[in-house]
Amino acid sequence: MLEQDTSKTSVQFIKGVGPWRTKILEKLGVSNVEDLLHHFPYRYEDRRHILPISKFKIGETQTLTGTVITSHLRYTRKRFAIFEAIIGDDTGTLSAVWFNQPYLQNKFTVGAKVILYGKVEIETNHLQIVNPEYEIISDASSEDSIHTGRIVPIYPLTSQISQRQIRTIIKNAMDLHAGSIAEILPPDLRHRLGLIHISSALKNIHFPESPEFYREARQRLVFDEFFLIELISAYRKKKIKEVLLGVEHRKAPDFDEFFSGIVPFTLTQSQKEVIVEIEKDMMKPHPMYRLLQGDVGSGKTIVAVYAMLLSVSNGYQAALMAPTEILAEQHFALFKKLLHGKPCKVSLIKGKLTLKAREKNYQEIQEGKADIVIGTHALVQEGLKFKKLGLCVIDEQHKFGVLQRKILKEKGLNPDMLVMTATPIPRTLSMALYSDMDISILRELPPGRKPVTTWWVSDKKRLGAYNFIKKEIIEEKKQAYIVYPLVEESEKLDLRDATKMYEFLKQSVFKEFKVGLIHGRLPSKEKDAIMRDFKNRNIDVLVSTIVIEVGIDVSTASVMLIEHAERFGLAQLHQLRGRVGRGDFQSYCILVSDSKTEDAKLRMNAMVKFQDGFEIAERDLRMRGPGEFLGLRQHGFPEFKIADLARDIKILELAKKEAFDLIDKDCFLSDSRHQGLLKQIQPKLEIGLG
Ligand code: ADP
Ligand code: MG
Repeated sequence: MLEQDTSKTSVQFIKGVGPWRTKILEKLGVSNVEDLLHHFPYRYEDRRHILPISKFKIGETQTLTGTVITSHLRYTRKRFAIFEAIIGDDTGTLSAVWFNQPYLQNKFTVGAKVILYGKVEIETNHLQIVNPEYEIISDASSEDSIHTGRIVPIYPLTSQISQRQIRTIIKNAMDLHAGSIAEILPPDLRHRLGLIHISSALKNIHFPESPEFYREARQRLVFDEFFLIELISAYRKKKIKEVLLGVEHRKAPDFDEFFSGIVPFTLTQSQKEVIVEIEKDMMKPHPMYRLLQGDVGSGKTIVAVYAMLLSVSNGYQAALMAPTEILAEQHFALFKKLLHGKPCKVSLIKGKLTLKAREKNYQEIQEGKADIVIGTHALVQEGLKFKKLGLCVIDEQHKFGVLQRKILKEKGLNPDMLVMTATPIPRTLSMALYSDMDISILRELPPGRKPVTTWWVSDKKRLGAYNFIKKEIIEEKKQAYIVYPLVEESEKLDLRDATKMYEFLKQSVFKEFKVGLIHGRLPSKEKDAIMRDFKNRNIDVLVSTIVIEVGIDVSTASVMLIEHAERFGLAQLHQLRGRVGRGDFQSYCILVSDSKTEDAKLRMNAMVKFQDGFEIAERDLRMRGPGEFLGLRQHGFPEFKIADLARDIKILELAKKEAFDLIDKDCFLSDSRHQGLLKQIQPKLEIGLG
């Protein structure tokens, strides 16, 4: 069969579309036939055996086919429309009610055949469905074979087009083009994995012949989505590791001794192992591209310090980018402390420097006088040039976009890259998602760490919590954080806010103590001063917002009180809690929340029960679904049309393996059997690394 490229054919030429509907379809992201065939249903209705009304079960979601017996539109006193239709089949009747949709009166004419879908309830001894999805069946036309008597697709839509219309359009497109869709998978691979042909997959994803066919279709399409992404990763990785030339670092014989001389503690076994992985990479002629994962408090910073000093000892510059000024400042202070009296110049770049200070900094960096450069995203500014950048470290990389990483990297000639994250993405998921990177994991915490005792308490227990904090300050000589979701009072939300509560706490509850306030809107000088005061114990209680979420390291803080805890996501709560428990004494996290929602309860309970970031992440993934999970989208991951990261992990692993094998054998996809694949991924190959 001659395979043609349907992708570019405009939807306009499909029967039933025309210029007007072309515009509507565009709103759905559909402009050509390929888009249309990839506009997948978001659910299905099994209309093969529709239950008669007499068999309906209360509380269950049902599909009903019946006839409109009567209909009635009325308005409440406040002009709120209530439309009710009585629908009947041979076995009984049911009332369907819609709110605020008066126009339905014209659609549900007496005698019309309709399909409803919704949850069946009982309302003063008759069955009722409220706001069901509906479809009006036209008079027994032959077309109905795609709308009833089968498994029927239900599509994501805008209001200007109905389910029946889109279904018909897709059917028409399918009849015309399905046979000629180009198969991109090489036949041997497809057969070996038992994947069905693309034409058959598309047919059955829209109009499944049976649940079994649907499963096979979905399997195939999910595989394709993952496979193409993994091919790109595999190609990039191969290019980085075998083609690109970067910095070939060496290690001087006395380097290790120098390093252990400046570090105030003994490295954990895990830190040692990770350092070996990193230095091996750095000593290769090809660039390193490595992700360092480690739970909050696992000690990633010192690993970065090692890598950076190794690069500096080779005569290169090393850059460290952190997501907040507070954190950059903290890293800067650490380097200053560790390198005190050593001939190594550390420079700090932040957003708001005076012109003069900035010029001086920039010049030092450009002339190579600064060995270590620490900064916020201000590091990616255009005017900032390095003389000889050997290594980039990105701390809390999930807080940065792909582009920022790329710009920083391009300030050198293929410098080594180390990106660090405490965002605990479930292992399997991260292995597959970051597959163009190598991954190192810090599996243990520094010795002596105790699990943070975590309580979830109601509003009423707040006073007790305050007393507990006082006791920790007086008896244990410790410090506390109190975190609020808002900086200032909000008109829309009735929440306690940091600014007001700071005033209140300072003047009443904690009046014998030193109370500080920090939030993102303060000028950076002030933020630095406050963090310094907190670190130096000139502040006992630090009232704050989410700004302290990442990275902050004050090991004498023992209590973290989080107000309106339900306002924070699970990953955020875990990060916040990670600010305490950084020493060998007992620490506490108090979550104050009166929220009764299921979701909030799940989050609070997960926090109380689990300490381990990975375990928390698994729950987070399950609760939020993969799309929202850790904002993967913003990390530059594509949005999947059909694949579901939580549920399709096995297929992802398979796709990854196959993609890497294929690139291993045919790196440039030059084999004639790989042309279809090449065409699909080529536009994305040269975009470069994230
Ligand atoms: P994170 O991985 O969250 O960035 P940090 O690098 O901030 O963690 O380290 C957390 C704390 O643990 C810091 O105070 C750090 O000095 C300390 N630390 C790191 N490694 C060790 C170690 N091997 N022994 C003792 N303390 C350590
Ligand atoms: Mg850190």
